[in-house]
Amino acid sequence: MIDQLYRKAVLTVAERPQVEKLAREKMWPLAERFVAGENLESAIKAVQQLEADGIAGNFDLLGEFIESPADCTRFADDVLALIEAAQDAGIKPYVSIKLSSVGQGKDEGGEDLGLKNARRIIAKAKEYGGFICLDMEDHTRVDITLRQLRTLIGEFGAEHVGTVLQSYLYRSLQDRAGLDDLKPNLRIVKGAYLEPETVAYPDKADVDQNYRRLVYQHLKAGNYCNVATHDEQIIGDVKRFVLAHGIARDQFEFQLLYGIRRDLQKALAAEGYRVRVYLPYGRDWYAYFSRRIAETPRNAAFVVQGMLKG
Ligand SMILES: Cc1cc2nc3c(=O)[nH]c(=O)nc-3n(C[C@H](O)[C@H](O)[C@H](O)COP(=O)(O)OP(=O)(O)OC[C@H]3O[C@@H](n4cnc5c(N)ncnc54)[C@H](O)[C@@H]3O)c2cc1C
Repeated sequence: MIDQLYRKAVLTVAERPQVEKLAREKMWPLAERFVAGENLESAIKAVQQLEADGIAGNFDLLGEFIESPADCTRFADDVLALIEAAQDAGIKPYVSIKLSSVGQGKDEGGEDLGLKNARRIIAKAKEYGGFICLDMEDHTRVDITLRQLRTLIGEFGAEHVGTVLQSYLYRSLQDRAGLDDLKPNLRIVKGAYLEPETVAYPDKADVDQNYRRLVYQHLKAGNYCNVATHDEQIIGDVKRFVLAHGIARDQFEFQLLYGIRRDLQKALAAEGYRVRVYLPYGRDWYAYFSRRIAETPRNAAFVVQGMLKG
C-alpha cells in the first residue's frame, strides 16, 4: 500500500508541465544511468558492451504519447532504421515497441494504424531472424494488444513476436491461459503504471505472489518465458523451480533494465543463465525516467542528490 502511495505521488508530480520542463533541462546527466544515450549510435555501442559480458540487448526507442498518424508512421520508420542498423552492426535485432507509439487505436482506411505499422516492423525483424516484443502499457490497452498479438503471431510466428503480462493485474492469469494455444513468448513483469484497485492488486505481496504463478504456469505449459524482474527472491525461486521441474535453460531468460542491478545482470550471465537487458534510448526519455524513479525511493534520493550537486 505504501509502495502504491509513493508511486502515485512521484508520477503525479512528474506529470506537471513545470516539473517536466525543469527535469528535461536538469536531469539528463542523471537519466543517463537508465537511458543508453539519445541516439542510435550510443544504443548500439551499449549493446556491444553488454554482449562483451555475455548479455544480450533489447532495444527500446523511446517515444510515448505520439499523437498524429504521420508521427506514428515516422516513429515506425525510425524503428525500421534501428533494425537495419543493429543488423549492420552484427547484432540480431531484438526490439521492444509500444503499439500506442505506432498508432494503435487510430483508424487508417478501415485498418488499425498500429497493427499496420507493427506488421512492417515485424516483417523486417523476421527477415533478419529477429524478434519484436509488444510492451504492455496501461490496462486500457490490454484487450486490443492481446487481440493484435494473436493476429501477428498468426502472420509471422511466435518466434518473431511476443508480448508482456503484468502480475499486478487481476486478469493476467486468465490472459496467460487464454494464449496457450499460440505457444507465445511472453515477458512477465510486475507492472509499471498507476492502476486503480478495480483492476490491479494494491498490495505488493499479492503482486509478487501472482508473478510467481504466472512464470511457473507459463513454463509448465512448455512456453518460452522472459522473467523480467530485479527481485532477487523471485529470481532465486525461479532458479529452484526450473531445477525441480527439469526445465532447460534455453526455455527462459532473465531480463533486467539498463542501469539497474548491473552486478546482478553480470552474476546471472556468469552462472550460465540467458540474460537480456532492456535498453531504452532516444530523446523522449522523460516518461520512462519518471517510472523508474517511481519504483523505488532510493532512486528519488539519487535524483535529489544529483540536483543539489547542481
Ligand atoms: C526487461 C523489463 C521489461 C519491462 N517491460 C514492462 C512493460 O512492458 N510494461 C510494464 O508495465 N512494465 C514493464 N517493466 C517494469 C516492471 O513492470 C516493474 O515496474 C519493474 O521491473 C520493477 O519491478 P521489479 O520486478 O524489479 O520488482 P520490485 O519489487 O519493484 O523491485 C525488486 C528490487 O529490484 C530493485 N529495483 C527495482 N526497480 C528498481 C529501480 N527502478 N531502480 C533501482 N533498483 C530497482 C530493488 O532492489 C528492489 O528492491 C519491465 C521491466 C523489465 C525488467
